[in-house]
Order: sequence, then C-alpha cells, then structure tokens
Amino acid sequence: MKSINCDVLVIGGGATGAGVLFDLALRGLRVVLTEQNDIATGTSGRYHGLLHSGGRYVVRDPASAKECIDENRILRRIAPNAIEDTGGLFVALPQDPESYVGPFLRGCAEVGIPTEKVPIALALREAPGLNPKAREAYRVPDGSCDSFDLIHSLVEGAQALGGTLLNYHRILSIDSANGAIQGATLEDRRTAEQVRIFAPMIVNAAGPWAGEVAALAGMEIALSLSKGVMIAMNTRWVNVILNRLIPPGDGDILVPVGTVCVIGTTSVPVARPDDNSITPKEVSEMMEKGEELIPGFRHGRALRAWAGVRPLYDPHSRSQAHDEHTHDDEDGRFVTRTFTTLDHADDGLNGMLSIVGGKLTTYRQMAEKISDRVCAQLGTTRPCTTADTLLPLPKWSRSHARSFHFLSNRLEALEDSPRHTNLICECEIVTRAQLEEAIHVSGPSVSLDDLRRDLRLGMGPCQGGFCAYRATGILGEVCNLPAEPAVDRLRAFVQERFRGHRPLLWGHQLRQALLDEMIYRRSLGLTMNSSVLTTQETEATHG
Ligand SMILES: Cc1cc2nc3c(=O)[nH]c(=O)nc-3n(C[C@H](O)[C@H](O)[C@H](O)COP(=O)(O)OP(=O)(O)OC[C@H]3O[C@@H](n4cnc5c(N)ncnc54)[C@H](O)[C@@H]3O)c2cc1C
Repeated sequence: MKSINCDVLVIGGGATGAGVLFDLALRGLRVVLTEQNDIATGTSGRYHGLLHSGGRYVVRDPASAKECIDENRILRRIAPNAIEDTGGLFVALPQDPESYVGPFLRGCAEVGIPTEKVPIALALREAPGLNPKAREAYRVPDGSCDSFDLIHSLVEGAQALGGTLLNYHRILSIDSANGAIQGATLEDRRTAEQVRIFAPMIVNAAGPWAGEVAALAGMEIALSLSKGVMIAMNTRWVNVILNRLIPPGDGDILVPVGTVCVIGTTSVPVARPDDNSITPKEVSEMMEKGEELIPGFRHGRALRAWAGVRPLYDPHSRSQAHDEHTHDDEDGRFVTRTFTTLDHADDGLNGMLSIVGGKLTTYRQMAEKISDRVCAQLGTTRPCTTADTLLPLPKWSRSHARSFHFLSNRLEALEDSPRHTNLICECEIVTRAQLEEAIHVSGPSVSLDDLRRDLRLGMGPCQGGFCAYRATGILGEVCNLPAEPAVDRLRAFVQERFRGHRPLLWGHQLRQALLDEMIYRRSLGLTMNSSVLTTQETEATHG
C-alpha cells in the first residue's frame, strides 16, 4: 500500500479545505488535502456566487455580517482574478416592510459596511430591468466570485509550496491509537488503490459531510443541513447584484455571474449532505421572486437549476431547552452563518479538529482560525500570512490576467491570435489547444466534467450540446482511449448537464434540450438513463 507521511491531513476540497491547505503550506507545514471527487464539487461549487458585503446579515446575524465585510475587503486584494466588482444594491419594493430599512442601515453602520442611498432613477439606469415601482435603493460593496478559479488558485498555490492534493480519494477510516490521531486510510476511487496517510493531525473541512467524517472517528457534530436551490438565466439581466431589502428569505438575491445571472435561493432542512433534489414548486418560486425584482423575468430563458447544502452548525438543534428556537425556524434561516472550530480532544480524541458553518466569503478567516489551532498543537509559531498573500493565477485562469474573466477577453485573445485555432466550445470560447493542454496536465483519467470546471467547457447556452462530443473525440485521441470508455465519459457528462436543465423544460430551454437529445440519442446513438421526451412534471407546471 502506498503511504505518505505529513504533518496535517485536511479532508474536503471545498473553499474551506483548500484555504486550510494553502494557509498551512504557507506556514511551512507538510500538508495533504484529500477530496472524494474533484475539487469544488461540494457546496463550494454549487453556491450562489455572491461575495457578501454582509448586508444580508446585519439585522439578524451581525457577527456573520462583520466576518463577511472584513473578508470581502481582503479577498478583493488577494484574489482579484476570481472576483468581479459588480457592486450591489439593496432594493425595497412597495410590498417590502418600511420598518426594515432603519435597522438595516443601523446594522450596516455598526459592523462597518458602507452604504449609499441611490436615487431610484439612478438605480434604474444601473439596473435597467429593475422593477420601476422600487421604493428605495442602497448601494453596498457586494461582488460576484468564481469559486472554481478561487479554489484552483488556493490548491495550486499550496502545491507550489509542497502541499499535496489527492482528489478522487475518499476516506475509508480515520486511524487512532490511545486517544490520539495516527492518520487515515484513503481509497483512490479511480483505481481502487488504498493509500495510508501517517499524520498526527487531521482537519475535518468536509462541509455538509463533516458529520459523516467525524463519525468515522467516533465523534459527533451537531450539523443543521439546509438545502438551497438556484437557477441560472441565460443572460445577465443586470450587471449589479440585486438584494431585496427585507429579512433574509427565499429568492431574494439576483447575482450576475459571467455571462449569466443566478436567482436564489431557498432554505430547506435536509437529512443528507448530497440531497440536491429540486422540486417544480421551488423552480416556480424562484421564477416568481425574480419576476418581482425584474418584471418579465419569468419569460426569460432559464438555463440550469442546481442545489447545494449549507453546512450550518447548530449545537442547540437537538437540545430540549431550545425547542422554541427550532419551532420558530423551520427553514433554518435563524441558524447563524458564522463558523465554529471544534477540537475533538474535548470528546477524548487528540489531534482531530473540525470546522463547520461559515460562508464561502469567509473561507480565509475560517482557514486562519483552524490553522492557528493546528499550529498551536504542533508547536509551530509561524503566523498566518494569507491576508497579505496574493493568490497565484490558476493554470487554467480564464482571464490570463489579474482581473476577472469576461468572455470578451477570450474573444479578443482569439481574434488577436496569429495562428488558426479550432473552437471547440463556441459558447464559452474554449479552443482545441486549451483543451489538449488541460487534458495533458490532468492525465488520462480526467472526466469531461473536470474539464468543464477547468475551462468552462459546456457551461454556456447550449449546455454541451455542440462541444461535448467534439471534446470527447479530442479526449479519446490525446489519451488514446478505446471507444467504450470515451463514450462512457461522454454519457456521464451529458447526463449531468441534463440533470441541471431537467427541472426547466419549457420554452426555449425545452427546444434546446430536445435539440441536444436529438444530437446525442438519435444522431450518435448514445444510450442515456433520462430523456426530455419522458419528462413531464415541470413542463406541466409552467405550461
Ligand atoms: C444554496 C447555497 C448558496 C450559497 N451562496 C453563498 C454565497 O452566495 N456566498 C457565500 O459566501 N456563501 C454561500 N453559501 C455558503 C457556502 O457555499 C458554503 O458555506 C461553503 O461553500 C462551504 O465550503 P466548504 O469547503 O466548507 O464545504 P464544501 O464545499 O462542501 O467542501 C467539502 C468537501 O468535502 C468533500 N468530502 C466529503 N466527504 C469526504 C470524504 N469522506 N473524503 C474526502 N472528501 C470528502 C466533499 O466532496 C466536498 O467537496 C451558499 C450555500 C448554499 C447551500
């Protein structure tokens, strides 16, 4: 069995785990990060895309609001390529409670979030689709954040310092003796090989799976899992983030992200960390909430729906003493969005720490706090430097510059390119050369979905309809794959794309899905376990 010796094993390749990997690598420790899938495939790859100013939390959860605004300022400095400075508006519609405005403004002032009253005429110029009946608007420093780019930067920054990523490696057991961590046994999910990690410390950063990981070591964590649904529309609709000026609720934020904008989200308690189910009712609700903010929204083309699960920490959730609290909070909106670090030595296991709760916006602060605890236990005195360390551009940086990726940058690069370049994904402007390079670097086991996260392949309006089979041909060619495994990878990709537009099959999106299905099922003879033609429930909802 392969074995690795290190100082710290980090479990979970989301923003938190990648942040811990980078922080500890900067402090000179030997760190291994293990992730059961590819990096950024958990909640961090399934979130809303908002770099919070904190405005959303000022009234009910000021501690979280303070963390957000502090980190918002830092992330703009250290990760400019992953952040688009869209700015944000909190907008009150006629039906929104006037009584919320005062506490909102006072709360912002108390935690240091700058606000500016924006005349409605100006707000309508900045966000032309905005409901003209809007009553009041306030500007806050929100932004939008590309979590794939951010997490790639963190992991690659750590690797350059000697850190190790083991993706597609799942924890089989956490090994301890005499009440102290010895390491863990992992399984490479692609080869079924086992790997033994010898480490005196483990950081459990498994997000909504943190309870399951803790259970492998016989520990318990009081997680309160809350699912949220989001829908990406196929154009931006607005260039500024729109928040409803109301207590946090469903569908009250619209985030422009790249070429699309995302309406979200909901908060539904779930039992499983991988519960990504989406109901027609949730879809209808998001479209209606979008319509309230932007009249005409519901007639737009909804491109893709997805769900993620929040890893909220609620030690009171099972306590009899807090019955009242849980009754009032059936959707989990009252559970704090701050984070918690746990030392399982308190329950008799030395060397294992867990970190739960928080936001993607606060990943760096979360990583700093848990890494401080790791260092204290390992006797390392090197301070945290992540707040002042510019993150490296990831290999597949979409912008190739220290600025956020816009599709137009790729178009300009393509037009300026002296050599003829084959375009493989027209929607996201991915060339054959980029694809071949990414395949070479990732190796022959790379999936089309990994390439999607690297390059944005298949993320545009056709959702892989035209690029997936071309990419499969190139993958097969570069890796010398026999037909069968190449087709398996195509099928996995197409089915995953289909899963995202299945809840949205009406209007233009239904036409696109039918076209994609004709390409794959009819022309290429691909067998799939789902079909547009047999999907009726959401069509019925939307007519
Ligand atoms: C619907 C929704 C919208 C959100 N919107 C925003 C937003 O706009 N802005 C914001 O700041 N925050 C937002 N959040 C919160 C934010 O996304 C999360 O707090 C954050 O992404 C959690 O990151 P994480 O690294 O802790 O967890 P994750 O990203 O889930 O990472 C945990 C990883 O652990 C891995 N793992 C699990 N078990 C094992 C195992 N046994 N072995 C190896 N690996 C394992 C998983 O595969 C996963 O990749 C949102 C959350 C949700 C649900």
